[in-house]
Amino acid sequence: MSVTVTVKIGVLNVQGAVSEHVDHVKWVDAEPVLVKHADDLVDLHGLIIPGGESTTIGKLIRKYGLFEPIIESAQGGMPLFGTCAGMILLAKKIEGHEEPHLALMDVVVNRNSFGRQRESFEADIEVQGISDGLFPAVFIRAPHVVAADQGVKVLATLDGRIVAVQQNHLLAAAFHPELTEDVRMHGYFKRLAEQYQAK
Ligand code: GLN
Repeated sequence: MSVTVTVKIGVLNVQGAVSEHVDHVKWVDAEPVLVKHADDLVDLHGLIIPGGESTTIGKLIRKYGLFEPIIESAQGGMPLFGTCAGMILLAKKIEGHEEPHLALMDVVVNRNSFGRQRESFEADIEVQGISDGLFPAVFIRAPHVVAADQGVKVLATLDGRIVAVQQNHLLAAAFHPELTEDVRMHGYFKRLAEQYQAK
């Protein structure tokens, strides 16, 4: 008899849009786990890094001792999904100014790319291999990917700008897939987590 263990997906719980991600994880029949300390990462099959303010989230993960453990988990193959500020956290390089944070994905990002007049908007975009049609993407002071290395797959663009990418088990979106009731991005991430769980 084989016992199926529910896939456990963590949601980084230091700042930003946490509860909406928790709901989406439930809606795709995975078990959400709030992550605030390194111990919370044990037994996870994936981790979502929500949107919010990347500088603040970057400071808090260092303060709570999560910085190294998240990097080590990702290096061990655990899937990560960064949305908006989470995408900035994952990038190897942040254009213009500050030091990168987790620096796990081979992309350069630009913060607050869509200008003041378009601080927040919704656009229907095609997300390759995920949306099978259009996905309602909510952008809030969103970043975009300025440059991506060869190993990075571009999943979506808007106005010629890259807004979703995947590099092996690392997934990132400039928009907020947790702010509509569409669960396709979370469903896709759950499959990455299941692949990791099966290893
Ligand atoms: N503008 C924010 C930053 O640079 C990201 C915005 C968001 O996550 N909605 O960190």
